[in-house]
Amino acid sequence: MALTRIGLAGLAVMGQNLALNIAEKGFPISVYNRTTSKVDETVERAKVEGNLPVYGFHDPASFVNSIQKPRVIIMLVKAGAPVDQTIATLSAHLEKGDCIIDGGNEWYENTERREKAMAELGLLYLGMGVSGGEEGARNGPSLMPGGSYEAFRYIEDILLKVAAQVPDSGPCVTYIGKGGSGNFVKMIHNGIEYGDMQLIAEAYDVLKSVGKLTNDELQHVFSEWNKGELLSFLIEITADIFGVKDDKGDGHLVDKVLDKTGMKGTGKWTVQQAAELSVAAPTIAASLDSRFLSGLKEERVEAAKVFQSGGFSDVLESKPVDKAKLIDDVRQALYASKICSYAQGMNLIRAKSTEKGWDLKLGELARIWKGGCIIRAIFLDRIKKAYDRNAELSNLLVDPEFAKEILDRQSAWRRVVCLAINHGISTPGMSTSLAYFDTYRRERVSANLVQAQRDYFGAHTYERVDMPGSFHTEWFKIA
Ligand code: NAP
Repeated sequence: MALTRIGLAGLAVMGQNLALNIAEKGFPISVYNRTTSKVDETVERAKVEGNLPVYGFHDPASFVNSIQKPRVIIMLVKAGAPVDQTIATLSAHLEKGDCIIDGGNEWYENTERREKAMAELGLLYLGMGVSGGEEGARNGPSLMPGGSYEAFRYIEDILLKVAAQVPDSGPCVTYIGKGGSGNFVKMIHNGIEYGDMQLIAEAYDVLKSVGKLTNDELQHVFSEWNKGELLSFLIEITADIFGVKDDKGDGHLVDKVLDKTGMKGTGKWTVQQAAELSVAAPTIAASLDSRFLSGLKEERVEAAKVFQSGGFSDVLESKPVDKAKLIDDVRQALYASKICSYAQGMNLIRAKSTEKGWDLKLGELARIWKGGCIIRAIFLDRIKKAYDRNAELSNLLVDPEFAKEILDRQSAWRRVVCLAINHGISTPGMSTSLAYFDTYRRERVSANLVQAQRDYFGAHTYERVDMPGSFHTEWFKIA
């Protein structure tokens, strides 16, 4: 057997599919997995899916030695300790100049630690975010490689072919930047994904609970939305979900799914980073909080009994809801909220980039998210254009096009949030997005009072609007 071009270790959902994708693009690949049955399974799939050049190995030494030098190995194993263990297994057989790429959802600081440790052994290291799930990995993911630029150059030709291809925008991959920037950007991508999913779920809740739309109507509405400014993977799959009938009973499957959301950690990391960086990301935080609250199913069942009567019928309007108007308002509220959520995600990336000196290009990130990944959407093209117009844009909200879009939609957005509040339907993502906008757009907010309180009880001082300097007042003596 001739030496292969690249290796891949870790053949669960992502690894197996990415290996087949790489082979299909004409790059012979060696594969390895701790549990060897997955190696055989992958080789078998490669045969079935077109005799793809995938070569399986049951031991790490022959796996490593089957790859041409300098060797490049992509790892797709569970983040954390399994990555360290896999690195230890592989690096025992690697030589100076070889390279390891972690394609998992890894915490960015772990990647930076490993990159340093690898460098001491003369090995190169990349942390590469891979988005798009199983289907993306197989047919074209969005790839976010960060770390050693030299390592990126080794495999640039492979990544350009393996990534999703978007007409007029090119392959969904770019060198993100140094250190753990690839993992960081993937983490924020996932945080934005949390926000998108929450906002869509709220749109569903308002349409279903207030508008009384059936699943068939919801399927139609989301399909229509997917033809316009909301066109995206998540809107598309949402429409599909409303069309699926329960194969174990009557009705639609979506109504039988337990209202309890799982999570794996990247959303939580995003919110923790927002706090670390002192960057407001309330839409993403609201989506995380909603997942926490969804987990309290048993408590909610009890609380529903306590608050059964509702007790706010006095605020409900008696006139029937105009369905067509509601659908259009919710569409606009969803879009305006989405702008706020992406503005927050982009601000987080920019703040981290400044802190770490990564020099990340926000417009380029929007470009590589246009295909392959879970948040892929036509909307990302507008974000790219906003940063093309002004790379130093302080916030997406003040880009002239987005500003106009928000202004055009704010009446509908306010109507939806008020309607939801009056009906007792929680829309934390939409509400907090609106509050984010309303705080950001106001020249003077109520922080003067908070600062006065801080000075009152803690002598923290304050600045004045009418003269420079730092002031302290003995408020209680004057009062
Ligand atoms: P996974 O379930 O996260 O991990 C399973 C893989 O890790 C298997 O190959 C397993 O080997 C290996 N592994 C676990 N512990 C190990 C250890 N101590 N030593 C060596 N190998 C070990 O797989 P996945 O869902 O394909 O995801 C891979 C990575 O991609 C993760 O970081 C994940 O967060 C990320 N990711 C996943 C998705 C997705 O949709 N699934 C999307 C984007 C990114 P054995 O077979 O021997 O147990």
